[in-house]
Amino acid sequence: MKFLRNNRLFLALLIPFMVIPWVRIGNFHLLLFNFSHNRLEFLGFGIEIGTYTLIGIVVLLGFGITLTVALTLSRFYCGMLCPNTFFAHFLTLLRSKKKSILSKIGGFLLLTVLASMLAFSVVAYGIRTDELMDAIAHLSFSGCLVIFLSLLMIAEVYMVQGWYCAYLCPYGAMCAILPIDDRLTYTYEDSKNQCIACEGCVKICPIPDLDIRKGFDIRCIQCGLCEVACAKTFAKNPTITTLISYDQRSRLRAGGRDRGILIAIVVMVLLTMVGVITLLDTERLQSCRLENQILH
Ligand code: SF4
Ligand code: SF4
Repeated sequence: MKFLRNNRLFLALLIPFMVIPWVRIGNFHLLLFNFSHNRLEFLGFGIEIGTYTLIGIVVLLGFGITLTVALTLSRFYCGMLCPNTFFAHFLTLLRSKKKSILSKIGGFLLLTVLASMLAFSVVAYGIRTDELMDAIAHLSFSGCLVIFLSLLMIAEVYMVQGWYCAYLCPYGAMCAILPIDDRLTYTYEDSKNQCIACEGCVKICPIPDLDIRKGFDIRCIQCGLCEVACAKTFAKNPTITTLISYDQRSRLRAGGRDRGILIAIVVMVLLTMVGVITLLDTERLQSCRLENQILH
């Protein structure tokens, strides 16, 4: 129950994310960057569009959304909405000593299925779901992409999770270079020197060599596992609940000090997006004209 409560935001977003590629309105989808038919489908409408323009839209849209989320939600995204953190919480459940081998195997299978469904959903934003299932069955490009992404995600979850968050994640890198330190929400506070140095918070942290007691560290993904570990340490102590806590207020500060930078960057990304799309479309039209001339 606590697991579901802690991950409710992620699950609330995961369900629509997985459902959207299946939803059709009339002849077109709710949202589909249809690469196999060179078409952008949105809210039941479809427009013909060149492959390169479609790639440009996807890349810039992805970058624009990532940047906006980094500037507004910052590490709140990592702790509450990132699939990696969800998997970290899930693995902690499975690693519990009280679990039987059978339930651990069941849990790992469930996690593998979930990672594969996530990979399927990601690719399904670029090709119709029926065509994608066909592509998986025939091991064509999109099908292989789903299998590759699934394997990558499963390997990442089981083998390099925290290391990935700390050193490879592009979102984490973006957060690290933006002026958003004050949006971190998990903090360690021990003014009465009550820490018993059990190292529970350090051992459970998915990020390598991160010790929240040493203060600010941009690599912290705000997963909250250290808070749970510390609360367990003091579970039988009637005076202390935990030395690590979640600061609601710091999240609300998001967008305050750096609002100007945020607006400027978002406007720049939008303008670049419009520019690149126009350029790509013009180039495509010109190449079509050239091809037609050659054919004549
Ligand atoms: S310090 Fe705590 S909140 Fe931050 S990544 Fe480690 S366990 Fe998660
Ligand atoms: S879990 Fe709590 S008591 Fe244990 S080392 Fe961390 S802060 Fe100290």
